[in-house]
Amino acid sequence: MEIKFWGVRGSIPSPGPNTAQFGGNTPCVEVINEGEPLIILDAGTGIRKLGMDILKRPDIKDIHLFFSHTHWDHIQGLPFFTPLLIPKYDITLYGPVHYSKNLEQILSQQMEYTYFPVRVEELAAKISFNDIIEQEITIGEDVKVTTKFVNHPVVCLSYKIEKDGKSFVYMTDHEPYRNLFADADELSCEEGRQVAKDQNEALVEFVRGVDIFCVDAQYTAEEYDPSRIGWGHSSTIASYDLAREAGVKEMIIFHHDPDRSDSDLQKMLSNLHDISWSPDQDNVPVRLAREQFNIHL
Ligand SMILES: [Zn+2]
Ligand SMILES: [Zn+2]
Repeated sequence: MEIKFWGVRGSIPSPGPNTAQFGGNTPCVEVINEGEPLIILDAGTGIRKLGMDILKRPDIKDIHLFFSHTHWDHIQGLPFFTPLLIPKYDITLYGPVHYSKNLEQILSQQMEYTYFPVRVEELAAKISFNDIIEQEITIGEDVKVTTKFVNHPVVCLSYKIEKDGKSFVYMTDHEPYRNLFADADELSCEEGRQVAKDQNEALVEFVRGVDIFCVDAQYTAEEYDPSRIGWGHSSTIASYDLAREAGVKEMIIFHHDPDRSDSDLQKMLSNLHDISWSPDQDNVPVRLAREQFNIHL
């Protein structure tokens, strides 16, 4: 399995000299399994360059694109994904079920003439849309994709991809579940506490022992204060605690804040190391996601 990062930035593209090292494109990750269809996670602005790269790889025909959710930063590159315009490609799109509209309606709306000059009906590739829930999907001969809902202000899925004993989890736009009834009466408060605990434990099980855990860690511990709780993004230490509890082999910090410069990101990583490293426990290696960065498993 090969994992390649094309966009690692959250919220809005942030190009410029201060972000050139880690990159300013919004989320897009490619997962290659030899002899199997290509898998893409999210269609932030990073997907534009991935699309151009795919045109240079004649063997690719079958593409499976999974959306974590449909916030702008995860869909805004889709209209610029060139394979959509070429009849040779078979492109299957997946996204979490939405309470008011389906995936096709949401993605078609961003390609109405008001916003973009080419409409979904005019795309030449063979395209299909799938609204999905927590489930298991087999891609090609033998690639297993498992999904899990995470905690974000809109329905959002995490994806686990497994093949030949190797595993990768992509968990962006998530913050730990919390007790939503902390201020209610004692009984409701206890129920809320239990629900949050159960949901957080289910995530640990979902991630248990994976080789690579790519996870939202947009904020430092200090930034994740009450003003940001509920925005659907995690602190580095919260994501690290999840990674350590689940015994993952490596954690990748993802969905970088658009205001975080390259040097700030390095500082954030070394601060995380300072507060999390423990001589008594297994420590998880952590890296920062970076555009054009490849992982071979
Ligand atoms: Zn996002
Ligand atoms: Zn989001």
